[in-house]
Amino acid sequence: MKVLYPGSFDPITYGHIDLIRRAVRLFDKVVVAVAVNIGKTPWFSLEERLDMVKQALTDMKGVEVVSFSGLVVDYARRNNIDALLRGLRMVSDFDYEFQMAIANRGFAPDIETLFLMPSEDYFYISSRLIKEVLTSGGSVSDFVPDFVEKAMKRKLEQNK
Ligand code: ADP
Repeated sequence: MKVLYPGSFDPITYGHIDLIRRAVRLFDKVVVAVAVNIGKTPWFSLEERLDMVKQALTDMKGVEVVSFSGLVVDYARRNNIDALLRGLRMVSDFDYEFQMAIANRGFAPDIETLFLMPSEDYFYISSRLIKEVLTSGGSVSDFVPDFVEKAMKRKLEQNK
């Protein structure tokens, strides 16, 4: 079975990586799909987000990294993907994820949305939170790989 794990990955965190690690044990292929258009203004360009995802997952077997625009279910259909994968952290994720899953089911009743939970170490981290922590002068080394933290610091410097 082939699953699509879509997201903004702005940037990729240990939470995303934890989820992908769990997924590769369950599915034949995990396609990590970096969204071209994201609602909020991204810190990183599509190329930068893609490069970081690829670098973070280099040693992982059974993973493919792609980018997509438009409806995620259209991408899934075109590429013979069976299901969408999303992460669930706190209850607070549920509302949004539920709405999206139901909307996607409306567009494509044959494509299921599946959810996995990360390790409790990553329950409370999000790309948004780590950007806030770094901007406030905190360390994010427990939440993202070294090279991601460096890229974030470079971004902060550039935008000063
Ligand atoms: P989006 O903007 O589509 O929510 P994200 O890159 O923020 O994109 O997240 C992609 C998916 O990864 C979402 O399903 C989100 O719930 C999940 N996710 C993000 N952070 C974590 C984490 N720490 N643990 C588990 N899942 C996570």
